[in-house]
Amino acid sequence: MDADWVARFADEVIAEAERRAPGKPVVCASGLSPSGPIHLGNLREVMTPHLVADEIRRRGHECVHIISWDDFDRFRKVPVGVDPAWNEHIGKPLTSVPAPPGSEHPNWAEHFKAPMIAALAELGVEFHGISQTQMYGSGAYREQVLLAMRERRRIDAILDQYRTKKAKAKEVADADEAAALEGSGAANEDDGSGAGGYYPYKPYCSVCDRDMTTVTSYDDETTAMSYTCVCGHSETVLLSEHTRGKLVWKVDWPMRWAYEGVVFEPSGVDHSSPGSSFVVGGQIVREVFGAPQPIGPMYAFVGISGMAKMSSSKGGVPTPADALSIMEPALLRWLYARRRPNQSFKVSFDQEIQRMYDEWDTLTRKVQDGTALPADQSAYRRASSTASRVLPETPRRLPYRTLASVVDIATGHEEQTLRILRAFDPEIGGLDELRPRLDRAQHWVNTYVPAEERTQVRETPDKELLDTLGAQDRESLRLLAEGLGEHWSLDGLTTLVYGVPKVQAGLDMDAKAATPELKAAQRAFFALLYRLLVGSDTGPRLPTLLLAVGRDRVRELIGHA
Ligand SMILES: [Zn+2]
Repeated sequence: MDADWVARFADEVIAEAERRAPGKPVVCASGLSPSGPIHLGNLREVMTPHLVADEIRRRGHECVHIISWDDFDRFRKVPVGVDPAWNEHIGKPLTSVPAPPGSEHPNWAEHFKAPMIAALAELGVEFHGISQTQMYGSGAYREQVLLAMRERRRIDAILDQYRTKKAKAKEVADADEAAALEGSGAANEDDGSGAGGYYPYKPYCSVCDRDMTTVTSYDDETTAMSYTCVCGHSETVLLSEHTRGKLVWKVDWPMRWAYEGVVFEPSGVDHSSPGSSFVVGGQIVREVFGAPQPIGPMYAFVGISGMAKMSSSKGGVPTPADALSIMEPALLRWLYARRRPNQSFKVSFDQEIQRMYDEWDTLTRKVQDGTALPADQSAYRRASSTASRVLPETPRRLPYRTLASVVDIATGHEEQTLRILRAFDPEIGGLDELRPRLDRAQHWVNTYVPAEERTQVRETPDKELLDTLGAQDRESLRLLAEGLGEHWSLDGLTTLVYGVPKVQAGLDMDAKAATPELKAAQRAFFALLYRLLVGSDTGPRLPTLLLAVGRDRVRELIGHA
């Protein structure tokens, strides 16, 4: 099989895993922060290692894809739309913050994890989820925490090399924005330095449960650690027993690389720039934790188009679940599989989705008839299946744009939808054969197509317009009305609507002609039909529209009832 980017990373990761831990399962990792709705942009954090892990499994190797839930991170800010009373929870671990009002989930983190877990299941992403609350809370990282504290001066010195570099290299414009986009950790989080010296461990206060604490002393011998909190509390605990705290992000991340033996973990551009967590983490994992850094390509951000028009009831944040409500899992997987991680691309919620679907259908046909390029074939295979299963597929695929036009015109009326669609494919037994693609198109039309772009078939003929038409236009409508019976199919109507102006120019309806005059006449004819049928200058493709409106209604609206 062709070496696409996934295959090349798989080669590299397998070789590296063999060097590090021969015979052990290969470990790929992602990190996600359930601090709010998990943005569709963050799906790349999961899809990149998923595709590589999946390729490794296809080759018969054991491979674990860890998703580390950064649910022991502090609650940073109250998102738009949530009761400002949640302000009192800022600084607490995400698992200790109550879920938003009305949620069925036990806490903030679980509330935002749940839809992501559901979306990943739908996408065929197999993973092993690890809760950092559970890991720190159970003392799993005890030795690593004690090691980091013993080595705090060395860590501080490493961080210090980058602190100055970073200050020079980059100004952090909007830390919250960056953190929201990253999805994992906090690039701009407090790195552990304070007036009382450097400590990489941050305790959550045992009274107020917030992390507004300052470590004031630590004894390597006894592991006695003293801290004060802004709430007034201060105490001394034994770090050999303490479990209510965590390493700061820049130390936490490399610690987990070493702990889990991660061989592959990509990161967003913000984590890969000079002085970023990935670069600093590389030095810390080698020098402090004695383990190599994972192979970690930088991935470019994924843009979203067409969400601006949407109401911002959810703060305008599109999630993977939103994408899956308008496209099938295989298509969404394909967007990630076909682009190298360093290439950016867009997920479209606007008209562009129809073109994306056309491309996908074209690729499918090429794969079926054996004419797809090797790299395209690989992308198709990765999109439509995983090592363990084939993603669900719509049994009978009609173009998404056709389905969208038809459901738009039929306004969800199932019987009418079926009748119209049978004109496209007489073999359709029932609407279920067209699902789930049909439902996705329906949801897209209902949710993301702005009202002014929806098709409104006229209730009554436009008398005023009909009465003012010249002889040429009247003739064209007469020719159309006469031809409807004979041409009532998708191909027939295509011939007819392009053919009427030809006949008027003295040509045959099937004549191969494309003079500028003829093209202008065709454009004018189409515009007239749109005005008469939907009261607008444009609309869905005319043959589709005519089929959807129905013969009798078309005749009525063009004045030939
Ligand atoms: Zn406190």
